[in-house]
Amino acid sequence: MQDINWGTLPFGYFKTDYNVRCYYRNGKWGEVETSSSEFVSIHIAATCLHYGQEAFEGMKAYRGKDGKIRLFRWQENAKRMRKSAEGILMAEVPDDLFFEMIVKAVKLNEKYLPPYGHGASLYIRPLLFGSGPQVGVKPADEYMFMVFVGPVGPYFKEGFNPVTLQIVRDFDRAAPLGTGHIKVGGNYAGSLFAGERAKKEGFSSVLFLEAKEKKYIDEAGPANFFAIKENSYITPKSSSILPSITNMSLMQLAEDLGLKVERRKVAVEELDGFDEVGACGTAAIISPIGKLVDRENGKVYQFCKDGKAGKISTKLYEKLQAIQYGDEADTHNWVTIIN
Ligand SMILES: *Cc1c(COP(=O)(O)O)cnc(C)c1O
Repeated sequence: MQDINWGTLPFGYFKTDYNVRCYYRNGKWGEVETSSSEFVSIHIAATCLHYGQEAFEGMKAYRGKDGKIRLFRWQENAKRMRKSAEGILMAEVPDDLFFEMIVKAVKLNEKYLPPYGHGASLYIRPLLFGSGPQVGVKPADEYMFMVFVGPVGPYFKEGFNPVTLQIVRDFDRAAPLGTGHIKVGGNYAGSLFAGERAKKEGFSSVLFLEAKEKKYIDEAGPANFFAIKENSYITPKSSSILPSITNMSLMQLAEDLGLKVERRKVAVEELDGFDEVGACGTAAIISPIGKLVDRENGKVYQFCKDGKAGKISTKLYEKLQAIQYGDEADTHNWVTIIN
């Protein structure tokens, strides 16, 4: 194994030694297999390739000061993957199989789990897809569930520093009655064009608006949006938003800090009155937003005027990371120690 510079790891693919796999055939899940190959061999007519029958999860294993490995709210990821499977008619992965496979993938690659103190972690990517053949539009009869892992640093190269987002109105990420609320690959395919265009135009990511009326804030690319206004933590409520486990946790922590939590429609114009805004998700935990520019009318919303993240965002970020790394008491029972 090459020496890994834990402090400068990007957020990206990193080859490790093993991944784990399991097949669903004849109506049941088979044995868990270990593989050292980065490739999968699947049928040319597999439904994942043609009709987008695919869902994934994203979670992290953290190593604490005590050397222990911690998983954060894995039960929520397992449950969300079952919801995703249900939404696009795939075989559901039972929670005990999900847990067995993520633990196995982490343990087999334990040497890649970053030591405490670098802000790095081991990213876990479970994925489920239709592997059986169909040419007519139908769900597959066979499914494959796999888990691979890799060490990662912060999602945005800025780390916990303000990012700039572009508000887009000429693309939708997901439709109100579509698949935005489940974690399926197709949502990402639909967001790539706007996301890459924003990067070319100098932004970290895009802010999508709710598709039907284009009046309300939906999601910040692959992350949920939240705002702080006076004593409130505000986050959009919409049928096309993916329910983020990070956001769910931040809402609880905000409440613990004595903030009022508002989950409601958030109009774009409200941006003018917010004290702090941010994007949240497993990858970046919190990305403070320093500036938003509306691509259509050029309107600029400025935050973090001193170039730094806001006070409450910082407090929430530190609190959540402290629980994840085991520096602080896990009062909500969110952490599972696996060694
Ligand atoms: C995964 C994801 C998130 C973040 O969810 P977490 O559970 O916090 O990682 C937010 N939005 C979208 C679209 C996602 O796919």
